[in-house]
Amino acid sequence: MEQDIIENIGRVRACLREGVTLVAVSKTRTAQEAKTAYDTGIRDFGENRVQEMLEKKPMLPDDVRWHLIGSLQTNKVRKVVGEAYLIHSLDRPELALAIEKESAKKDMVTDCLIEINIGCEESKSGVLPEGLDDLAELARSLAHIRIRGLMAIIPRGTTEENREYFRRMKQTFDDLKRKESENFRMEILSMGMTNDYVTAMEEGSTLVRVGEGIFGERDKNRGGNKNG
Ligand SMILES: *Cc1c(COP(=O)(O)O)cnc(C)c1O
Repeated sequence: MEQDIIENIGRVRACLREGVTLVAVSKTRTAQEAKTAYDTGIRDFGENRVQEMLEKKPMLPDDVRWHLIGSLQTNKVRKVVGEAYLIHSLDRPELALAIEKESAKKDMVTDCLIEINIGCEESKSGVLPEGLDDLAELARSLAHIRIRGLMAIIPRGTTEENREYFRRMKQTFDDLKRKESENFRMEILSMGMTNDYVTAMEEGSTLVRVGEGIFGERDKNRGGNKNG
């Protein structure tokens, strides 16, 4: 088990492009499994549930950067601000306003990515492409939010279909890069998971989120595919 994780990480690392951050998605895994990854040098971990992140956090060393990658309800914002290194799932105005309010209260600036529903799938979170400009403008006006880039979960499909969505994301990222300001930067393009991270990197991803490719198959009964 432990040996599998170590070997898997070695294999993923061998494929990583220079400058790409590997986030180990530890949702549904034990703190012990995460610690095995930590001991190989992994410092970025992704969780999709606030509660699970908060439970695991004290069981791992302090230098872990916790990425909240699952969709975030406004009533959980209070718990996550100040705890997550980066929130990948800013996808609607109410959430931006809630993060702003909580961050101001704690006198801090919260780093976020704007999540785009690039495949326009009803079942997925993320702002629809047509809503992006308004959300970006709102975020830009909020002093306690710093946008650092974009995130997407693309639809399932063939490699070539995947590539097309990654290209659209990269195009959007580059377009917004021309509109950077102090608290609105396009530094991180979070896209690519176990099955498609190589394609994602070929198309410009700067951060890949790999779960099963590191920790093995997830137990579907533990709700690992749900957000929240
Ligand atoms: C679970 C999850 C991942 C990792 O998926 P794998 O297929 O296990 O690599 C990446 N991103 C998000 C948002 C997830 O919820």
